[in-house]
Amino acid sequence: MIEYLPQALSSLSAARVIAKSFLDLRDLAQINSKVVELQDIIMAAQEKVFAAQEDKSLLAAKVQELEEECTRLKDWSTEKEKYLCKEIAPGVFAYIRNDFNGQFENAYKLCCNCFDRSIKSTLQQSQIKTYRNMIKLDCSNGCHEIIFTDYNYQE
Ligand SMILES: [Zn+2]
Repeated sequence: MIEYLPQALSSLSAARVIAKSFLDLRDLAQINSKVVELQDIIMAAQEKVFAAQEDKSLLAAKVQELEEECTRLKDWSTEKEKYLCKEIAPGVFAYIRNDFNGQFENAYKLCCNCFDRSIKSTLQQSQIKTYRNMIKLDCSNGCHEIIFTDYNYQE
C-alpha cells in the first residue's frame, strides 16, 4: 500500500504540470493532446489509489484475524491452567481437569496433541467389541485414535 501513494502523488503532480500548461496553449489540437495525456495520468493515479484501498482492506482483515487469534490464545492460556497431563492408562496420556476426583474413565479428557497446539479438543470414548473389550478415544479434531485395554486406577 505504501508504494502506491507516492506513485499516485507523482501522477497527480504530473497532471498539475499539464493542467498548468493549458494556459500557454492556443492550438486546439495541442489542447486535445494534452487533455488525453491528462486523462491517462488521472486514470493511472486512480488505479494506484484503488490498489492502495484494496491493500488497506486486506491489511485490516488480517489485523482483525490476528486480534481474534491473540484473544483466543490469551483465553487459552487461562483455560489451560485448569488441566494437567495424566497417564490415564499405561502409556496413554490425556489432559484432565485439575479438580477432577474420580476414575479416569469418567473424566472429561482433552487430546494432548491438540492441547500442545493450543487447541481444546475433547476425547470421545467408545468401546470396541472384540474378543476383549478395548477402549477407544477419538479426538474430535481428527487426531489418531487411542486404543487401550484398561484405565489406570486413580486413588
Ligand atoms: Zn487432537
